[in-house]
Amino acid sequence: MPMGTNEVPAVMGCEYEPGHSGTHIYGVQEEMSASTDQEGELVAVYWWAGWGDGSATPYTISVMDPCPESYGYVPALGEEGMCCLPLDHPGPHSPGGAASE
Ligand SMILES: [Zn+2]
Ligand SMILES: [Zn+2]
Repeated sequence: MPMGTNEVPAVMGCEYEPGHSGTHIYGVQEEMSASTDQEGELVAVYWWAGWGDGSATPYTISVMDPCPESYGYVPALGEEGMCCLPLDHPGPHSPGGAASE
């Protein structure tokens, strides 16, 4: 799946673990905001689509803070892989996109 797309896939796979409670989410875009952090680096803004919360809309797109934790050591990277789910997500930390590819 290409990263940084502006289009919401026609079929979105939830990125949380199967059987979780609450709203389903799918990370749709990461972009750089105009603001910087304390170290002068541009702050990334993460957009997620959420659905299944019982509302009438198919899904809502919103900005959520990313989870700051790692999901474990990744031999291919030689370092810890950062969790790609929203802050306070249910289930274990994950690189995200588990339901797709
Ligand atoms: Zn889900
Ligand atoms: Zn996490």
